[in-house]
Amino acid sequence: MKTDPPQKSNDPKPAEAARRRSGTANPAEHRLTGIAVSPGIVIGQIYDTTEAPAESPRRSIAAELVETERTRLHDAAALSRKQVSKLKTRLSVLPEEAQEELEPLLDAYILMLGNSRLLRGARKRIGEELLAAETAVQDEAEAIAQAILAAKGDDKAGLNRRAGEVREIARRLTRNLTATPFRSLKGVPAGAILVADELTPADAALLEPGRIAAVATEEGGADGHTAIMLRALGIPAILGCHGLTAAAKRGDHAVLDGGTGRIALHPEPATLAAAKEGLAAQAKERARLGKLRRLPAETTDGQLVELQANLEIPAELPLIHQAGAQGIGLLRTEFLFMNREDLPNEEAQAEAYRAVIEAMGQDPVTIRVLDWGGEKDMEALAAGVPVSTGPNPALGLRGIRLLLKRPELLEEQFAAILRVAHLGQVRILLPMVTVPAEVAQAREIYERVARRLRRRGETLPEKLPPLGAMIETPGAALAADGIALEADFFAIGTNDLAMYTLAVDRAEIDVAHLYDPLHPAVLRLMQFATEAALRLRMPVSVCGEMAGNPKLVPLLLGLGLRSLSMNAGSIPKVKQAVRNLDIDDCARFARRVMEQSDPRRIAELVESFAAKPGDRG
Ligand code: PEP
Ligand code: MG
Repeated sequence: MKTDPPQKSNDPKPAEAARRRSGTANPAEHRLTGIAVSPGIVIGQIYDTTEAPAESPRRSIAAELVETERTRLHDAAALSRKQVSKLKTRLSVLPEEAQEELEPLLDAYILMLGNSRLLRGARKRIGEELLAAETAVQDEAEAIAQAILAAKGDDKAGLNRRAGEVREIARRLTRNLTATPFRSLKGVPAGAILVADELTPADAALLEPGRIAAVATEEGGADGHTAIMLRALGIPAILGCHGLTAAAKRGDHAVLDGGTGRIALHPEPATLAAAKEGLAAQAKERARLGKLRRLPAETTDGQLVELQANLEIPAELPLIHQAGAQGIGLLRTEFLFMNREDLPNEEAQAEAYRAVIEAMGQDPVTIRVLDWGGEKDMEALAAGVPVSTGPNPALGLRGIRLLLKRPELLEEQFAAILRVAHLGQVRILLPMVTVPAEVAQAREIYERVARRLRRRGETLPEKLPPLGAMIETPGAALAADGIALEADFFAIGTNDLAMYTLAVDRAEIDVAHLYDPLHPAVLRLMQFATEAALRLRMPVSVCGEMAGNPKLVPLLLGLGLRSLSMNAGSIPKVKQAVRNLDIDDCARFARRVMEQSDPRRIAELVESFAAKPGDRG
């Protein structure tokens, strides 16, 4: 597959599309291209969750909940309409024939999600039969489908199709109503390639890396949290693959290459043979990189670079050990708050942190307090926590802003971390800081919590763990000298820094082509913040996705950075890059890059520097 020429579009041949619809055996190979987010080649069978009926047991409700259920139904219909309308905007990338087929179908779906017989009937059942919204939807859809199938007429295929459409809409509504779209993951056969419209970060947290071989979705961007989690779990993945869910059917054979972003449905023998070759090369490369585990991350002129891992869920710990990480540079604590209906208490949090700190021995662990908001939507917090309801959630109550507004959340998390901090080398990190006062306020709370715990007789480290700030907004980067006076260390979050600098949502496929951490504006902000820290001899690291790209290591080292935190899977390649570099070369290269104003030129320079020969393994 690696040798395929680049695909201009997701272009199934018309004859193939016809064969596909008529269900003839041996359909021709159908290639699609998405965003390559997590490398690895997989040969397997498609498991299409968009077709999976949501498993929702029948549920009755008390009379006083009728209005609540009707509101849930109303909201699920609105969300479903939004999803289908979005699918419609994507049709233009498909071949004309497929567009002609799909457009009227999606229009019919949108109508059914409006003031339709299905929704009116379901509303009525909620009130008259006291049914939960999903049960009412399923009953009403089944009644309508049966009525359609019982209708007289010769066009049996047409009647079947219409009944199928009603059931399909009921499935979408049910998935949105149950708000756990991938509960059906339980039934996914081992080794499957999971295909979905969209995977939320909370869904990704439920994936079992040993079981799901690969993931491909229609939505999503390269540096959204779903992509980050898939990379962290080492699951090969392609996101933002237009036309995928319309083309891929459950049970289809496929070859997915998460490194190139390509997926071939019904692969031809030549594609399969190339994929098998790729798999063998992949295994060889892994074995070669594995040998680096015990070697230091040291440049040719003897400068040591700290390479740490980011951790999203505890399931990654074995991968982190395998990769030979020198600690955890970013522990995203959001996992503790995902996929649950209540908030984890101090005890539960302390246990989770204890497990990670103990697993890391004396290697440092940087724990970031809860960064909720934006795309990191967590059900648990919706109850009783001020959710950003404004038009731009990413600019609203997110990260430290939310925690300072609800200080009891921050107090509880500080207490949980402090109680186990003596077990290892801990640092605490504040997300989404924009002004020095936020760090100062957080520190006041931190010290108050520490005093309270000491009074209670808890064992605390003699010196409190350092309290650092994420530099992940242009405001924080340009005010880094001021923030440095309040913070003990910096961690530069290039994912959000790029998003906020360029006004490009990191998880939004429609603007993914504009998301570019190599934009000079992003690099200049990084340089400013790094220099502010270095002037004060304050520790500074990069923990955004940039840190895990071996091609960017010369630039980061050249800017003066010596600590990088990344998904565990990237550590060996980044270490290899470090071991081939000379710091003076890197500094010269960085100066050259920082003189440029065109992102394309910077990308060219990065590529040509990376292509330089010389390998000392
Ligand atoms: C970042 O923004 O770069 C970062 C590391 O934080 P997160 O990806 O969790 O937002
Ligand atoms: Mg961030």
